[in-house]
Amino acid sequence: MEFKRILLKLSGEALMGNRQYGIDPERLAEYANEVKKVVDQGVQVAIVIGGGNIFRGVAGASTGMDRVQGDHMGMLATVINGLALQSALEIAGVQTRLQSAIKINEVAEPFIRRRAIRHMEKGRVVIFGGGTGNPYFTTDSAAVLRAIEIDADVILKGTRVDGIYTSDPEKNKDAVKFDFITFEDVIRKGLKVMDTTAFTLSQENKLPIIVFDMNKEGNLMKVVSGETVGTTVNL
Ligand code: UDP
Repeated sequence: MEFKRILLKLSGEALMGNRQYGIDPERLAEYANEVKKVVDQGVQVAIVIGGGNIFRGVAGASTGMDRVQGDHMGMLATVINGLALQSALEIAGVQTRLQSAIKINEVAEPFIRRRAIRHMEKGRVVIFGGGTGNPYFTTDSAAVLRAIEIDADVILKGTRVDGIYTSDPEKNKDAVKFDFITFEDVIRKGLKVMDTTAFTLSQENKLPIIVFDMNKEGNLMKVVSGETVGTTVNL
């Protein structure tokens, strides 16, 4: 395996499958099976899950809701997704722990860095819920922050697109995919990988990002074993 410890970022929207809202149980089970394959190879896995399939603070703010209130709802949404993912992973036979950035002790462990690392060393998948625990951030920022804290080798951003393109491949047929691109070129070309806060945090800490299609069976395993799948962003 190319990577020994990974941080997998999954968006909340990815959990919707073909639905407009919420969680598609089939999609959830597929993701759990993909994660199990790499755990079975001895790879240490942490997951940060988004909440966009349930609630986003900016969406609340656009209808007049207080932004911070909305962000709290968004963070709680990530805990709901984390519980769903935890359940699916356990059905697949993977041991897990859910740690939340917001204290919700009856439901999830609090985020404790050393404990998270210990869980992974014992072969448990650690799911980080609650984002960073702060409003005005995204779960992409949470993913980069946690990845740095637990000393992950790489951030794997699982999306429904198979990498970073010169322009949006869903809108432009002539868009060309990069296998590799530097952080600087992503910024220079104005490409969208993560929000700026998350992206620069990754760059400053020399943490590579691989963007890949999580919906294609076997892809996660390929990425972790070092095959050129998706796009790698590095220095
Ligand atoms: N959120 C937040 N702080 C964080 C992470 C998330 O306030 O550190 C809130 C924010 O409102 C965000 C929502 O939780 O819109 C869901 O997270 P995100 O939009 O990143 O989810 P994704 O797009 O990955 O599904």
